[in-house]
Amino acid sequence: MKKIISAFLAVLILASALCLPVSAERSGVQYTIINPYKDVDWANSETYKACFHCHTNASDGECDLNEWIGLYYDAGYDILAITDHGVINNGWNKEKRTNGIFNGFKSVSPLTDEQYSRYINGTDRNGRGIVDITGGIECNMAVVSKTHVNGYWTTYGQGVWGKENDYETAPKEIEKSGGYSVLNHVGDWVNSNNYPARSHNPFYINYFANIFTKYKTCLGMEIINNTDNCTRADRELWDELLSVVIPTGRNIWAFADDDSEYRDEVGRSFELFPMTSNSEENVKNAMINGAFFAASKYQKNPARKNEIEGDGLVPLVTDIKINGNVITVECDKERGCDTIEWVSDGKVIAADNSGSCSYTLNLNDYDGNLGCYVRFVLKSVSHGVTYSQAFELRYDGRVNKEIPASPIPENFLGRIFWLWYQRLSVTLADLIGEKIADKLGKIPVVAE
Ligand SMILES: [Zn+2]
Repeated sequence: MKKIISAFLAVLILASALCLPVSAERSGVQYTIINPYKDVDWANSETYKACFHCHTNASDGECDLNEWIGLYYDAGYDILAITDHGVINNGWNKEKRTNGIFNGFKSVSPLTDEQYSRYINGTDRNGRGIVDITGGIECNMAVVSKTHVNGYWTTYGQGVWGKENDYETAPKEIEKSGGYSVLNHVGDWVNSNNYPARSHNPFYINYFANIFTKYKTCLGMEIINNTDNCTRADRELWDELLSVVIPTGRNIWAFADDDSEYRDEVGRSFELFPMTSNSEENVKNAMINGAFFAASKYQKNPARKNEIEGDGLVPLVTDIKINGNVITVECDKERGCDTIEWVSDGKVIAADNSGSCSYTLNLNDYDGNLGCYVRFVLKSVSHGVTYSQAFELRYDGRVNKEIPASPIPENFLGRIFWLWYQRLSVTLADLIGEKIADKLGKIPVVAE
């Protein structure tokens, strides 16, 4: 009998010991983490490098198509979308129409079969070809306000001049045509480079949030363009938009691109796709699902301090695991990584400077401090920066932020405002006024 009692007690003690951590876990918030990388087969994937925004002499680029593709091919790229202003790329071996004065009346020619085969099949690159993303174009080719939108797999935009201060028409028309769009260098239009507080202004948050909620095929925005000069405050805008758009049932993917016109601009900012094989179809699916990273040699910021300019061998993610409330990120040790930062609701909630390349985040350590998403940033001072997409967090008690009201009313007066605002004369006056203000040194100092 004694034996039975002591055995029973032992089982009881063991059971309570085993139960303790479980009940401790239960006292925290239970999260459902929506992982954009859930379909990535990490064990069998390679990382493919992409450029989704660049220009040839079919618009304002300095090189012809063959030389241009050759530059990206030689730089080790795997995926390339040619996005000339107002000129659709129907395939590198297909004729395209240019727009007279917009490329100085230069004639352009498609690749020969031999050139095309070399790039597509990677004949002198161990069979590692470069994928031609078709139906690529930068829309609104003639606007001074630089409200440019990239289209992919679209038939819209050929020769369309565009309206001033208008990011909305292009995504709408691209969606109608069956294509996908990305909003380019929004900081250029917002002028948040010089006025970073605008990234938190309800006018801009409302404007972009409405575009993303209306057009599901508008996949995201550039959070970095070229050297990150004009986009330095755009991660702040992206965070604002994530906070109000995710509760409506969709995400906003981050893109980082060269927007290159000159040879020395190749390789500054790019996307990284972990995929088991490289094809236009696989890239398209990963783009739609957000299963890629935005990366850059550069990381600038509104305070203009501690900025990064690396060699481009940015931290490479090799695995992401979700286990309950814990996210684990592994990255390539040879490439290295100095710091991981975890961002939620526009705030850095955690950072690890160990350089271990193996990182975990237990969401329960930050209960009460989380918004509707978390994302991470991998930094290497000598190489550059890699941004993950946002992981939506669903949990009881989540406070959903609403899209702020626009200061521009949705009535007759509001419509008058937009008619006025989209005039070229207004854009020019605005541009000159801001240029003068910038020259006079009216750049606001931002608190760190
Ligand atoms: Zn542009």
